[in-house]
Amino acid sequence: MQQTPSVGRVVHYVSHGTPARPDGSQAFRQECRAAIVTEVDKEDPTRVGLAVLNPSGLFFHPLAGGCVLDEAPEGARDGGSWHWPERT
Ligand SMILES: [Zn+2]
Repeated sequence: MQQTPSVGRVVHYVSHGTPARPDGSQAFRQECRAAIVTEVDKEDPTRVGLAVLNPSGLFFHPLAGGCVLDEAPEGARDGGSWHWPERT
């Protein structure tokens, strides 16, 4: 399954967790956030611009320095990446 993202699709953006403390705990863990694709890199369609819908505000990620696809399982993804929403 390898869908190509297009403008207007809804994906998940992975928020950046806060740095791990010495004991390994984190004040804020990574979270999946709803995001709408605003731009798609024509040469590399896995790189997109996103409008991220955080619970308390919008966050815009233009294609310049955009978000890359990370299909690793939950917890192993890079903060700042995107993926297709998990099926539940
Ligand atoms: Zn997700």
